[in-house]
Amino acid sequence: MTKTNISRLLTRIFSILLWIVVIVLWIPLIREKTIPRLWAVVSVRPSTVLPTPIAVGQPFEYCVLKEDAGLMDEVQAGTPIPVESVSLGPKPTETAAFLAPILPIEAGAIVTPEPVEPTSTQPVYDEIGGWQVEVINMGEAKENNFHLVVIGVGFIDEAQNEAKLREIASGLEVNFTGVRIDFAYVRSPLNLNLKHVGQMVDFSNTGDLDRVLAKIREVHPVDSVAIAIETPFFLGTADAKQFAMFTASDSNTLLMATHETAHLLGLGDGYQAFYIGRYLPNSELFYLDSMPRILSDALPKLESIPPLYEVGTCKGRKLYTFYERSNNIMNDYDPKGPNSWGDSVFTPLQIQVMNNFVATLK
Ligand SMILES: [Zn+2]
Repeated sequence: MTKTNISRLLTRIFSILLWIVVIVLWIPLIREKTIPRLWAVVSVRPSTVLPTPIAVGQPFEYCVLKEDAGLMDEVQAGTPIPVESVSLGPKPTETAAFLAPILPIEAGAIVTPEPVEPTSTQPVYDEIGGWQVEVINMGEAKENNFHLVVIGVGFIDEAQNEAKLREIASGLEVNFTGVRIDFAYVRSPLNLNLKHVGQMVDFSNTGDLDRVLAKIREVHPVDSVAIAIETPFFLGTADAKQFAMFTASDSNTLLMATHETAHLLGLGDGYQAFYIGRYLPNSELFYLDSMPRILSDALPKLESIPPLYEVGTCKGRKLYTFYERSNNIMNDYDPKGPNSWGDSVFTPLQIQVMNNFVATLK
């Protein structure tokens, strides 16, 4: 065999292998609509001309775990932390029986290592299939919109559940004005079991999310659920895909619900003290030469390019954000006056990013 033949053979083998990879890996991804999501997080150098960044305060290093790191940061970093179940309702049920074991967590949502044995304090798994789910629509569910259904967990009183959920859903409707999302809620409380580490909360039983989504889909289109939890704990989590959870009866419930729901529509966090790699860059914290595609695609659609701030570093690499941070609900939210862009809690850029995100899903 000559040298040319060998190289032809190798090229051929390589291209066959490449096709196998394409077929095996990409077809299921396309089927599950994962590709647009992946595409959305690819980072690029933006084509838009950006303003000169404004430097604020001492630059903060976001990607190194500090010695005095809080519980949430340690969880993000993968430190095993014991999980607690969330007390349901004003009279907490017996919880000690099903405190979950140690939790290996990568980040974001909490993952249960093993299924927890059902006890008398937990609903039987099959219960969800038998639930009576009546969905109340806040308006018309438009086909190409993102459909969010709010459900209540831990409410003892049915009327109280409905009143609270209606209040949250109508508040969300106002806060998401201009975003392609519609809201509905389930009339009766649903007795799901949840667990938490610090503010992060998740299902105790893996599989309950799918069961709940399937149950609601029998009567109403749903992309994600927002779970309002009647609990004494201050909780808030989103898995960036199909659920947001938050404390139902705090004075900050609506802001929390708004923030967590925005995660389901592609917005990242800008307030954390510590990030693991896959959470940066995001819509709120990014590098100038490597911006999430969904953010750089949204910029040219704005009437004007927002002010740019230099806010710190990730392992020495400079991180930036748009708009003043304290006015940003995904950032260090503490507005001291009206927003420069108008009444919305979201910036025009965030609204554009969320709509682009919904467009990739539908
Ligand atoms: Zn968040």
